[in-house]
Amino acid sequence: MNQNTSAAPGQDTRNTRAPELRSQGASPNTSPIIQVTGLEKTYTTARGALTLFKHLDLVVETGEMVAILGQSGAGKSTLLHILGALDTPTAGAVYCASTNVAQLSPRQAAAFRNREIGYVWQFHYLLPEFSALENVAMPLLARGQTKREALPVAAKWLSEVGLEDRADHRPGELSGGEQQRVALARSLVNNPRLLLADEPTGDLDQTTAALVFDLIRRLHRSHGLTSILVTHNLELAARCTRALRLESGRLLPANQDAGRPENPAIVS
Ligand code: ADP
Repeated sequence: MNQNTSAAPGQDTRNTRAPELRSQGASPNTSPIIQVTGLEKTYTTARGALTLFKHLDLVVETGEMVAILGQSGAGKSTLLHILGALDTPTAGAVYCASTNVAQLSPRQAAAFRNREIGYVWQFHYLLPEFSALENVAMPLLARGQTKREALPVAAKWLSEVGLEDRADHRPGELSGGEQQRVALARSLVNNPRLLLADEPTGDLDQTTAALVFDLIRRLHRSHGLTSILVTHNLELAARCTRALRLESGRLLPANQDAGRPENPAIVS
């Protein structure tokens, strides 16, 4: 796309420097870990082109915990997928953890995700036939570690989420909140810099949601993460360092009115 910074296959993309940009109200004393400029995403559908965003900019400083709110269909998940190199933009530069993710080959994107990104989804997607411990170890095994190497690391992460005594349990033998805690441990087992969470508490009751959110926030702080959380929960969003709302293809401070709330996506 428009930034000539992609690395050759196999090359470490971590060193690709992002351009200087002004932050959007974040602390000036930290360095941006995400810099998105002129992002456009257009899907081609049977009914024509569906443009979710055009000229979207976003700067996130290292250590921030940013909530993204917005109506269903506004493009929140799509934005998270693009930041995490699971989807590609139609245009624009997307620097994430010093890498222009818009330029990665599928193989580089997979390596980038493995190294830099922890993902938590609304549904845990744990593998039902494996224990909690094995599920947490899965990303390490996928990287080529042996079980002997991976399981002690996974055990440490299970204990970080308070589930050391559930290591042998299969997902079906865990509560919804416990399943999500296992998924959180799995997302962090590779020590990523960025945690991307798509409605991580959306499938939980209010009390469990608050507990899981507290755990995410504690791990965010203790591991020096930068986190972006898509949520519909205004209370939890207010406890993040910043809350933005995706509306009509733009990211605005959550308390600012975009003026066109009835039309989440721009159809051109
Ligand atoms: P949100 O997370 O805010 O609910 P999404 O990012 O999931 O929104 O989706 C935004 C819009 O893009 C929706 O209208 C959805 O139907 C559409 N969309 C998502 N993925 C695709 C795709 N692969 N092809 C076409 N349209 C898509």
